Amino acid sequence: MSTPRIWFNGELVAHDDATIHVLSHVVHYGSSVFEGIRAYDTDRGPAVFRLREHMRRLVDSAKIHRMDLGYSVDELCEAVVGTVADSGLDACYIRPVAFRGHGKMGVNPLGAPVEVVVAVWEWGQYLGDEAVEQGVDVQVSSWNRPAPNTLPAMAKAGGNYLGGSLIKMEAVLNGYSEGIALSVDGYLSEGSGENLFLVRDNVIMTAPSTMSILPGITRDSVMQIARERGYTVEEKILPREALYLADEMFFTGTAAEVTPIRSVDHYQVGEGRRGPVTEELQTAYFEALRDTANPRGWLTFAREA
Ligand code: PMP
Repeated sequence: MSTPRIWFNGELVAHDDATIHVLSHVVHYGSSVFEGIRAYDTDRGPAVFRLREHMRRLVDSAKIHRMDLGYSVDELCEAVVGTVADSGLDACYIRPVAFRGHGKMGVNPLGAPVEVVVAVWEWGQYLGDEAVEQGVDVQVSSWNRPAPNTLPAMAKAGGNYLGGSLIKMEAVLNGYSEGIALSVDGYLSEGSGENLFLVRDNVIMTAPSTMSILPGITRDSVMQIARERGYTVEEKILPREALYLADEMFFTGTAAEVTPIRSVDHYQVGEGRRGPVTEELQTAYFEALRDTANPRGWLTFAREA
């Protein structure tokens, strides 16, 4: 799936040479931190969306887990730009990942080498091609998000996605596209790989960061766009039943972009299709991704950098 070359510890190496040992710490203990970024096809070549914010979050995730990446935010941005340019792709998904490598065995990762990788590949709509217009059917998961002071939710760490995988597998096996997880207290949190927004009476609401969410960069972008357009946006604690009373609902995420939700637990959301506020924000978001005038400074043009 990935391109012929992968950036591995500072060098572009052949795809087949980007390998690790089976006794690496990450294989046993899930000790990785990673990012998911997209580059979009524009008339100035591939434009990487909010690159600096993503790489800052990678460095933050690493710091939480006491992982020394050995690269600054600027150097990591350069690695991404170089890998995207090298790939020759006009649009791609970008996966920077850092992990604990092969050192001594045991839980203690201090002393294990840290490896840093950037891979890119072509990736279409995450929740299906029709989802962007038609919306998806979702369920409330029987799995909660990790409680505060357990697995740090602000870190985008590999191990956290064991929980995310349980949410996703349960949803898919039950015939849904995605699951919405509740916080340990039973309040709305997020999907397995997306933040969640509700709209009622034109007010846009999303869970605050205290609800064990990953602070999404798409979430931040959509909140900014919505406020610019005059909407009231509230980060607030929301009970489960707010899902069943929402006029509109949507997910945000780098992979999912802005995906409408048309039903939850078999309750129809609004008219059962993408609502007008969702459509407006989705359109504005898609425009922002390819706005080469770059009014918010959100784009990095990989072939010009
Ligand atoms: N929550 C989780 C658990 C995620 O994995 C993601 C995807 N990175 C998001 C939210 C959305 O974050 P972003 O908009 O930065 O991609």
